[in-house]
Amino acid sequence: MNASRAKTLVNFGANLRIQPTSYYTPANEQEVLAILERHRGESIRVVGRMHSWSKVLDSTGVVLSLEKFDQISINAENPTPTATLGAGVQIKTALKALSRQGLTLPSLGLITEQTIAGATATGTHGSGKHSLSHYLTSIRLAHFDPESGKAVIREISDGPELEAARCSLGALGIVLNLTIEIRSSYNVEFQLHEVKTLDDALESESDWPLQQCYFLPWRWTYVVHQRRETAAPRTKTARLFRWYWFLTFDIGLHLVLVTTARYLKAYKLVKTLYRHVLSRSLIQRWWIVDESSAALIMEHELFRHIEIEMFVPASRLADGMRLVQQLLEIAGGSSEPWESPEREALAESGLLSEIENVRGQYVHHYPICIRKILPDATHVSMASSADEPWYAISMISYVSPKDRDGFQRFAKVVTRVLGQCLGGRPHWGKVCLLDAELARQLYPRLSEFQHVIRELDPDRTFSNEWLKQVIPTAP
Ligand SMILES: Cc1cc2nc3c(=O)[nH]c(=O)nc-3n(C[C@H](O)[C@H](O)[C@H](O)COP(=O)(O)OP(=O)(O)OC[C@H]3O[C@@H](n4cnc5c(N)ncnc54)[C@H](O)[C@@H]3O)c2cc1C
Repeated sequence: MNASRAKTLVNFGANLRIQPTSYYTPANEQEVLAILERHRGESIRVVGRMHSWSKVLDSTGVVLSLEKFDQISINAENPTPTATLGAGVQIKTALKALSRQGLTLPSLGLITEQTIAGATATGTHGSGKHSLSHYLTSIRLAHFDPESGKAVIREISDGPELEAARCSLGALGIVLNLTIEIRSSYNVEFQLHEVKTLDDALESESDWPLQQCYFLPWRWTYVVHQRRETAAPRTKTARLFRWYWFLTFDIGLHLVLVTTARYLKAYKLVKTLYRHVLSRSLIQRWWIVDESSAALIMEHELFRHIEIEMFVPASRLADGMRLVQQLLEIAGGSSEPWESPEREALAESGLLSEIENVRGQYVHHYPICIRKILPDATHVSMASSADEPWYAISMISYVSPKDRDGFQRFAKVVTRVLGQCLGGRPHWGKVCLLDAELARQLYPRLSEFQHVIRELDPDRTFSNEWLKQVIPTAP
């Protein structure tokens, strides 16, 4: 097949531009193999829906989109029901097909625009479950056979290769399709209310396992979004709630924040809105039952933004929230000196001066979402290799792409401070400012992942320059 004209590809966050040397949209496996043969020795990467912000998506060589790999095959009769999905199937398309048979995916993030291969390649997650990657039972991969050098297809369904390929960062080869556990459809009951402290927010979590929280900047309170699976039928008010949520938060809140933070840069007003106004738009303890795919999802893709999300072990969440608040206050202009039990360690590693550099540089303006992720059986997804759950702390900015310098500095400091003090890991698909040393410290199973890369792609054909730096495989 011929390459289409190499166009510039821009990601959702408009912070990454890719200029492929050749761009292909193959329609079947034979075409993928032919492209690999044609471009042997060059760098080859795949893009999904380009919803990642990090350099994991970057490419300077040949780029493939597997949007035509859209087959869905549902194996509901298996003892563990599964679905085999073409790599380019968007999550929303899979959900529609599954729901026609009373089925759904085991975990859902906040949006459903991503492709299944793209979402699992970076450990995409929701709240209260494992990440989607954990549920993959087999992966069909195109790569070069290390012995013969020929482009071949390999089915990966167990052992270390599976743990690597579940969250592959695109570094093992081209995922053609993957098989994922599925389950019967379910309803979710939920309600929201505001509390003062993290302890108050977590108090009800064992009764509401799908719960997530929103930490309100400048007010420093928590809105608890209590959610759990229920056998109760959908409430009559579910549709009304959907409209309330859509108009008030998906649209209204975003218009206010985009206007004040992006266009007017009225940061004092942003702080006042959080302290005194925004939480009043929340109807507290309105109890609703809705289908999971409606109850767990938001329309977060409507307004362009950028995001960093830090994962900390459950036992370190309180420290994580304390550090995040302190960093946000300093970045937002507080003149208080940095005082914390970590002060000495931070000073020793030079981080105190980095914290000073961010003072007054960035006013955070979006609720900080906190989600719980169960430990994953993978080598390097953010919730991998731990005997306790993780909490993801997400920080989103709506400032214009040209004004993101302050956010980037803040992201760098939050990565270093949470990484060094708490073993905090940045989401691979969001702003991810890891280097090789930090990645090695944060991921105890990184060497197993490197070993699988060496076996499946010794020449690093499928890794971009950033991946080669952060996850080197040379001895
Ligand atoms: C508005 C918004 C909301 C989000 N919400 C969440 C959320 O709730 N939870 C969460 O965890 N994340 C969330 N994300 C992050 C997002 O899920 C990840 O960045 C995801 O990887 C994007 O999927 P994609 O299809 O756009 O893949 P891309 O961003 O295009 O690619 C991601 C990676 O997958 C690789 N890849 C894609 N297809 C293949 C293939 N066929 N073979 C090999 N490698 C492949 C790419 O090379 C790249 O390394 C959100 C992002 C946005 C923009």
